[in-house]
Amino acid sequence: MKEIFTEYVVVGSGPGGASTALELAEKGKHVVILEKGPRHPITKSKIDAYGIYDKWAVFSRSREGVIIDRAITLGGCSVVFSGNAFDPPPWLFEPWGIDLSPYATEISREIGIAPFSDAFCAPWTGIQRLREAGDRLGVDLKPQEKFIDETLCRNGCDGCMTGCRNDAKWTARRWIDKAASLGATVITEADVSHLEIKEGRVQAVHATTPDGKLRVDCESAVLSAGGVGTAVILQRSGIDKAGDHFFMDPMNVIWGMADEPVSTGTEMTFSYACDTWADEKGYILGNVSGKGAWLTRFMRPLSGWPALLQSGKWDRMMGMFIKVADDRVGSVDARGQMTKPLTDADLQKSREATDLAISVMTQAGVAPSSIRVVKSIGGHPGGTAAIGEVVDEDFRVRGIKNLHLCDASVFPKSPGRPPTLIILALGRHLVRHILEP
Ligand SMILES: Cc1cc2nc3c(=O)[nH]c(=O)nc-3n(C[C@H](O)[C@H](O)[C@H](O)COP(=O)(O)OP(=O)(O)OC[C@H]3O[C@@H](n4cnc5c(N)ncnc54)[C@H](O)[C@@H]3O)c2cc1C
Repeated sequence: MKEIFTEYVVVGSGPGGASTALELAEKGKHVVILEKGPRHPITKSKIDAYGIYDKWAVFSRSREGVIIDRAITLGGCSVVFSGNAFDPPPWLFEPWGIDLSPYATEISREIGIAPFSDAFCAPWTGIQRLREAGDRLGVDLKPQEKFIDETLCRNGCDGCMTGCRNDAKWTARRWIDKAASLGATVITEADVSHLEIKEGRVQAVHATTPDGKLRVDCESAVLSAGGVGTAVILQRSGIDKAGDHFFMDPMNVIWGMADEPVSTGTEMTFSYACDTWADEKGYILGNVSGKGAWLTRFMRPLSGWPALLQSGKWDRMMGMFIKVADDRVGSVDARGQMTKPLTDADLQKSREATDLAISVMTQAGVAPSSIRVVKSIGGHPGGTAAIGEVVDEDFRVRGIKNLHLCDASVFPKSPGRPPTLIILALGRHLVRHILEP
């Protein structure tokens, strides 16, 4: 067994791990980052791209068949995320007196988060139709804030969720690489099995690597393996109360066709969104490119195959998505097996939002008989080690002095919007207020 020693071990290199590790490295701390995935190259091949996802995206499912996607790669899900930024809702950590918004603002400025410009969006006739239809129905599809530098982005590519080939999208790899340039040690393909805990302290983090077993002795550990991965490691380390209260923001994708061309077929997915009801009703909706929505139909291969018949008619297709903040009633066990029953409240929200999206699409010219809905795909796992339950208000695992968490597992409930900016801000809060004030 190989043994090393460090001040801080950070497990996971997604937004939570990258934010924490970079802050610590900037403060001169020695950090070892253990990441289960490799540094996958970003290529044009769709096969390569789906290999970045756990179980090729399509087969990562709860016992109930709900698809729950995550990436196992250096940079975590940010490598395949759609690049949308939402500010932390003030109510999320309010009961604990924690306000992440100053950090979110700071990070937003540093990364250059902004919506696409009007000039960039000008060719997209389909989204203009959806916006006009939305206006008539009271659905305000606003330009979406993006982690994307439009000067590098290839208009019409729409490949964010298979990895950005132009490096236009910010990913956590940038911050991991910066942490490494400041002295952090990054070990990829290090699958953390468990933590060795004695007398209320983490003594060492154990991982399996292609070269054999690795033991990292540490002064402190931060788990940022995501809403699923962190729950698994905690349970394998004897912290049995982790793993419950799982949410993942189920999304429906709605696809349809018009009888005549309605779009240039170059729209970028999630470039416009409506968050009017995010807090009050718990859902958001936005656009999906027609081709993107068509491709999503194959996520459910048994019902999706007839989509082949419409292949190529991209200028007649339109798409939208809805995402709901689901109840925290699922679970993740020590093997990573997930349960995600959708409650009556989840299904009611989902129906209401889907009906709204369908009204917008039909107003925009989509034939109602063509519409298909691909249901329940989640990509925001969290809640499995919630604040006030598994961790205290310092995001420290109760009963263990030197173990903190930084990912969506600590969220008390779904924030009802994509969480990356919130998680990045959490990393800054953790280091600047708690670990190294
Ligand atoms: C297709 C898709 C699109 C998305 N779009 C958006 C979007 O537009 N905006 C947004 O805000 N969010 C989006 N998300 C969600 C967002 O990407 C995640 O919420 C975010 O990346 C979570 O960050 P994290 O660091 O907590 O976890 P992750 O990004 O999941 O990173 C966790 C890391 O830990 C590693 N790990 C897991 N287990 C172990 C282990 N045992 N040992 C070592 N390492 C381990 C994983 O390999 C991974 O690299 C999207 C997600 C998906 C899947």
